[in-house]
Amino acid sequence: MQMKFVVKKACCSGGRVGALELGSCPKPIETPALLLSTRKGLPHFIAPDLLTSLPFPDSHLLQISPLHFLEGLASTTISKIGGLHQMLSLHQYGIAAVARDSIQCLPESKGATKLGPSFETPCGRLSINPKDYVEMISCMRPNIWATLADEVPAWVSEKRNKTSVDRTVRWLDDCLALNPAAGSVFGAVVGGPNFDERKRCALEVAKRNVSGYWIGGFGLGERIEERPALLSAIIDVLPDEKPRMISGLGLPEEILEGIDAGIDLFDSTYVYCLTLGGFALTFSLDKGGNQYDFQRCQVQRDLTKINLRAKVYSKMSNNSKDMSPILGNCTCYTCRNHTKAYINHLFNVHEMLAQTLLEIHNTHHYLMFFRVIREAIKDGRFKKFRMTFIESRRVHQETEADCA
Ligand SMILES: [Zn+2]
Repeated sequence: MQMKFVVKKACCSGGRVGALELGSCPKPIETPALLLSTRKGLPHFIAPDLLTSLPFPDSHLLQISPLHFLEGLASTTISKIGGLHQMLSLHQYGIAAVARDSIQCLPESKGATKLGPSFETPCGRLSINPKDYVEMISCMRPNIWATLADEVPAWVSEKRNKTSVDRTVRWLDDCLALNPAAGSVFGAVVGGPNFDERKRCALEVAKRNVSGYWIGGFGLGERIEERPALLSAIIDVLPDEKPRMISGLGLPEEILEGIDAGIDLFDSTYVYCLTLGGFALTFSLDKGGNQYDFQRCQVQRDLTKINLRAKVYSKMSNNSKDMSPILGNCTCYTCRNHTKAYINHLFNVHEMLAQTLLEIHNTHHYLMFFRVIREAIKDGRFKKFRMTFIESRRVHQETEADCA
């Protein structure tokens, strides 16, 4: 079954709620939605059996990078197994493939143009042309896949940025000409920090026969105050009825900004990066957007996240260990079963279970954040929610400074 997407409510105060149906998922995925970041198809520290502990169906869309598979099984072997769903035994999940580079801006050369895009892979930097890429996609059979993009950081020249748009549109045509049978194609939109190039690229991609749009080139050094206008330059020329996915926006404020602009799907490594650093998300999911209990400031300064590697969780001032969960009202597997003291202990003895428990909590918490945002859009109070949320985080930072 091909993908289906319906916009259920577009809020005049920003954002829209939709339903994304993928053949493999038992229920439609409500958008705006977070794609779970994975390495080779599975979240970094969560085993497949624990995936079911995450909220359903919010957690049923996984992001993969086809480039991660270059060091392992050949694409033809994955194809013989039956594709990624079959290989990973994730039959009821949606898989979205995005081949995002770790961004090394290569010098312009005739050779590079002839060879096509080159990407950083586990096997080193490799040249992968649209034909190679489409063959990989055809073998992996994701539900959704973005076409190849020549993403460049914000500091490249105007000429290089223009070339990146030209190449990305040409590679889109090359991918479509190969007539891939697998999945729904999302046309890649780039253009760096230049409004005209962003608009030009979006207009060109909107003319093509694609099922949705993938927006790249954000989080690569563009000025934060220019982001709303850059997003508008793209979204204003894309048709409303097709879904829009973005990479590079991950912080709560960035998610809210993207949703306000009309983004439906977010591919982000924010949860992974937090988990790797030992942090647990603790910001409030209050529907009204009231984020912080300032009385708590005396005990704990950062009220948006805590560092579970900190000694304070192994020995409290009253000589008793912190026996409470990360969040008392959180319903995730970790908070229902384990304490901060235990997770801190796991970190101290270098047990990977620490990251597993932390990734479960952080993923659950961020998925619930998306759920609260969707409710705010449905109720027509997204703008107020966004303002309150951002303002309370700003006030919190000032309060934190006062406490220091
Ligand atoms: Zn939790």
